[in-house]
Amino acid sequence: MKYSNIAIFVPHAGCPYRCSFCDQHTITGMQTIPRAADVTRICEEAFSRIRDPGQTEIAFFGGSFTAVPRGLMTELLDAAQPYAERCRGIRISTRPDCIDGEILSVLRRSRVTSIELGAQSLDDAVLAANDRGHTAADVIRASDMIRQAGFELGLQVMPGLYKADPASDRRTAEAVCGIRPDTVRIYPVVILQGTRLGELYCSGEYQPAPFPEMVQLVAEWMELYRANGIRIIKVGLHASEFVQEQAIGGYYHPAFRELCESYGYRCRIGAELDRLGIADREITVRVHPGCVSKAVGQKKANIRYFQENFGVTLHVCGDAHMLPMQVEIAAGEQKNWQT
Ligand code: SF4
Repeated sequence: MKYSNIAIFVPHAGCPYRCSFCDQHTITGMQTIPRAADVTRICEEAFSRIRDPGQTEIAFFGGSFTAVPRGLMTELLDAAQPYAERCRGIRISTRPDCIDGEILSVLRRSRVTSIELGAQSLDDAVLAANDRGHTAADVIRASDMIRQAGFELGLQVMPGLYKADPASDRRTAEAVCGIRPDTVRIYPVVILQGTRLGELYCSGEYQPAPFPEMVQLVAEWMELYRANGIRIIKVGLHASEFVQEQAIGGYYHPAFRELCESYGYRCRIGAELDRLGIADREITVRVHPGCVSKAVGQKKANIRYFQENFGVTLHVCGDAHMLPMQVEIAAGEQKNWQT
């Protein structure tokens, strides 16, 4: 099921610390924190356009919503109530150390249905090195409370942080599966000018892994999360002129998810070739019609990969009987493969 958000950004509201990588003013493009009148205006505009309110949520993002001064938090939630009644509910994002029973009761009464926690990593050394101010145990505790209280639980995770390495990032992905959130957002690190991470990067103290390695790592994470029934609702920071201007390193790409999906197809096609022992020079690959471009890869990356490394020419065709992510291959160019 695909949901859409009416995003209301509260940049850095409630944040007790500034995390090493974060600049919500750049990420959200917003300089000020909204008030009730802004919530009303944003919702009015959105409701004049949306087609399916049942699949729409009002989302307070970009800060630590449950740590926002209570008067302001109540003001924002109250302003959203008339609209929350007419849609799926309210989604918020916050920190794992800003969840307790009392705040969950307040959120429940205010039609909040989904809570996303900025977990980022489940490695305490990585969390400390990036000024998060909470531990992995806080993520697990808050997640348990949110699930037990009946909210949808989302975790936001950030591979490639300062002091992280592929092994610690893999442990984080496995630990996330152990928590069993309903959704994840994967934000590979983007190094922004003016952040502490930016300083560490410019001084040479922080050297992120090469871009292709991050694509492979995130592609692995995606397979793992799918296998564990966790819905992946975002991969990579959203494309924005502000982020593009301020990014000085890391893994910003306007189609990061597509790159990872394509790498996943490369792996699946390679595995099928091995499994079936096909050694022909021409291969037809059958995939879901919506996945043809992913199987082909950006700028035909997968076609070139198999050609250059194995001397194999791929012919990719769409077939409505195939499921997304499913791959079937056959020797030769199967022009008459039923589609
Ligand atoms: S990552 Fe979250 S908690 Fe940290 S500064 Fe940014 S919005 Fe605040």
